[in-house]
Amino acid sequence: MKILVPVKRVIDYNVKPRVKADGTGVDLANVKMSMNPFDEIAVEEAIRLKEKGVATEVVVVSIGPAKAQETLRTALAMGADRAILVQTEVEVEPLAVAKILKAVADEEAPGLVILGKQAIDDDSNQTGQMLAALMGRPQGTFASKVEVAGDTVNVTREVDGGLETVSLKMPAVVTTDLRLNEPRYASLPNIMKAKTKPLANKTPDDYGIDTTPRLKTLKVSEPPVRSAGIKVADVDALVAKLKEVGVA
Ligand code: AMP
Repeated sequence: MKILVPVKRVIDYNVKPRVKADGTGVDLANVKMSMNPFDEIAVEEAIRLKEKGVATEVVVVSIGPAKAQETLRTALAMGADRAILVQTEVEVEPLAVAKILKAVADEEAPGLVILGKQAIDDDSNQTGQMLAALMGRPQGTFASKVEVAGDTVNVTREVDGGLETVSLKMPAVVTTDLRLNEPRYASLPNIMKAKTKPLANKTPDDYGIDTTPRLKTLKVSEPPVRSAGIKVADVDALVAKLKEVGVA
């Protein structure tokens, strides 16, 4: 069985985003970019399934600029077998990403597509669900455990009330939550080896997908600055202060 893992190149989670002065978006000039953290978890899960003998090949795919090659090489260094870059210099919205992934899945025929639950740049949390709908296949979102048994995948999901386990007939779409696993670091020898693993270059046109944006960003602004707190001497002063501001 083949596993397809879509990985997105996003602003690194340690970087504090700066909003562009004209309010049109986030300033990405000279900013460290990395693989979306939920996608690292997806790559790790796919590799573990291969190590267990459940999967035979892990294919990673990224839709983005030429630099997304670095993200794909990271996934290859972690242990993925092959990569596909669908290159475009424009911002691609979740629906268009899902349509491209559907076209890739039609070609590759994976038993599982494992995505991140959300990309930390746009926080959309849409692509996996849209992909499952376009493929007409079952979905298990926010996975904290994935177990394959024959042609079925059991996905334990993190839901508001606790945990829910769904049983899906494969091919199926799974999206990862934070507690699914701890992704490995790529070792230096594996980083070297990844340089020679196959990476195919494609464009959205190759799949006949129109990536023209359908959404219009009106304005991007910084969150309001939090005002500084104050220190009180003791509990009596705290209670008095709470009364004064009307919360006690
Ligand atoms: P989103 O719906 O944008 O929050 O993204 C959810 C997941 O879809 C991500 O964690 C990735 O696995 C996948 N994804 C989104 N955008 C891309 C992209 N440009 N290239 C590859 N995978 C993507």
